[in-house]
Amino acid sequence: MTANQYVEEFMANLIAKNPGEKEFHQAVKEVVESVAPYIVESPQLMKMKVMERIVEPERIIMFRVPWVNDAGEVCINKGYRVQMNSAIGPYKGGIRFHSSVNLSILKFLAFEQTFKNSLTTLPMGGGKGGSDFSPRGKSDMEVMRFCQSFMNELFRHIGPDTDVPAGDIGVGGREVGFMFGQYKKLRDEFTGTFTGKGRSFGGSIMRPEATGYGACYFGQAMLATRGESYEGKTVCISGSGNVAQYACKKARELGAKVVTMSDSNGFIYDPEGIDDAKWNYIFNLKNVKRGRIKEYVSQYPNAQYFEGQRPWSIKCDIAMPCATQNELNGEQAKELLKNGCTCVVEGANMPTTPDAIAAFQAAKILYSPGKASNAGGVATSGLEMTQNSMRLGWSAKEVDERLHDIMTGIHEMCVKYGTEEDGYINYVKGANIGGFMKVADAMLAQGIV
Ligand code: NDP
Repeated sequence: MTANQYVEEFMANLIAKNPGEKEFHQAVKEVVESVAPYIVESPQLMKMKVMERIVEPERIIMFRVPWVNDAGEVCINKGYRVQMNSAIGPYKGGIRFHSSVNLSILKFLAFEQTFKNSLTTLPMGGGKGGSDFSPRGKSDMEVMRFCQSFMNELFRHIGPDTDVPAGDIGVGGREVGFMFGQYKKLRDEFTGTFTGKGRSFGGSIMRPEATGYGACYFGQAMLATRGESYEGKTVCISGSGNVAQYACKKARELGAKVVTMSDSNGFIYDPEGIDDAKWNYIFNLKNVKRGRIKEYVSQYPNAQYFEGQRPWSIKCDIAMPCATQNELNGEQAKELLKNGCTCVVEGANMPTTPDAIAAFQAAKILYSPGKASNAGGVATSGLEMTQNSMRLGWSAKEVDERLHDIMTGIHEMCVKYGTEEDGYINYVKGANIGGFMKVADAMLAQGIV
C-alpha cells in the first residue's frame, strides 16, 4: 500500500465513523499525511493499528451543567472532557468555555494535544474539555456558579495522576481558581489536579506568560535558521487574550514592533507599535475591565479599528495568529505573502487553514504549526505539575530557562524530522512525526489497550 492510499482509506473510515466533525477531520488529516510514509513501511504499526487507535478517544465524558444566573433563571449548558490518549502520561490539556464549543472542536484539540505534549518530552498524555458556556458579559458570581456546577460532575473523572486540566479560551486564572476550589471541596484533598492555578495556591510562576513567550522563543529559533531575528521586524498578532498578550510582550522585548491585536469583533492597527504603556492598557482592558479591543482607539487615537476584520491585510514581516482555529485562510495567506511576510508562528491551535498552510509552504517561508510553537504553555503546566509533586516552587529564572530549553528542543525535533531534500524545514511534518514516534512506541509496548 502506498502512503497516499493509506491516507485516503484512513480518512474515508474516519469520516464515516465520525460524521460532521470537520475540525477533527482537518486535524487528523494533517497528521496522517505526515506520518503515513512511516506507517506503511512499518508492519508493526500497521498490524497493531496504532494510528487507528490514536484517533479513537480513550474516553469521552459528556454531562449537563445546570446553573442559576443573577436574574434567578435556570440555565443549562453542555459539559465535556475528551480523554484522548494516556500512553505517555496522565491526560493533560485545557478547558475551553466558548459558545462555539462542540465535540468536533474538543476532539481536534485533544488529538493535537497528544502530539504536542509528546513533543515537550514531559510525561503527559492528551486531553481537552470545555463547555458551550461563554463567560463574556457574565458577572463574577455567575461565572463562579457555572464553574462549580461544571466541577460537580467533572471532579470524579480527574486527578493528579489521571487527568490534569488547565485553561484555554475563556478559561483564565479566575475560572481555574473557581474550578480548583470546588474540586478541592468535593475531594477534600489539595493536589496539583489543575495547572494555571494562582500563585498563592500552587501555580507556577511564568505559567501565564508561557504560551506567548514560548511561541516567540520558537519563532526566534526558526528565524535563526535563516540568520535572522525579531530585532527590527514588524509583527501582526491576532487575539488579545492570554497567548496574544504575552506574545506581544516578548516580541517587543526581542526588538520587534507589534502593530495589531484583535478580538472576535475586529482588530486594531497601531502603526507606532504597542509599547509598554499600551501593553499595560490592553492587559488591564482585557483582564480586569473585561472590555473590547476597539476601546484601544479611544485611548490611542493614532490607532485605527477595523470592525469585523482580521489583521492579515496589514503589512508585516512576522504573523502570529493567537486567537482561535481557522482564523487565517488561503486568501489572507496570499495577502500576507504579497506584503512580504516571511515567518508565521502559530500561538493558537490550528489557526491556519490547510490552503493557507499550502501557500506558505509553497512560498518556502518559515511556518510553524501550533502543536510545536505553542507547546510552551503545556510544557510549563508540566513544570507546574512537577513543582506540585515536589511541593516546591521554582524561581522565574529557572522556569523561563527550562521553557526556553524545551522550545529549543522542540525546534531541533522539527529540524530532525522535517528537513526536506532542498533544505527547507517543513515544521508540520517535523512536529507530526516527532510527536507521533514517542506515542506510537509507548502504545506498541503497552499492548492492545
Ligand atoms: P483567551 O480566551 O485568553 O483569548 C482568546 C482571544 O481570541 C480573545 O481575544 C478572543 O476574542 C479571541 N477569539 C476567540 N474566539 C474567536 C473567534 N471565533 N474569532 C476571532 N477571535 C476569537 O484564550 P487564549 O489566549 O488562552 O487562547 C488563544 C488560542 O491559543 C486558542 O487557540 C488556544 O487553544 C491556544 N492555546 C492556548 C494556550 C494557553 O496556555 N492559554 C496554550 C496553547 C494554545 P473575544 O474576547 O472576542 O472572544
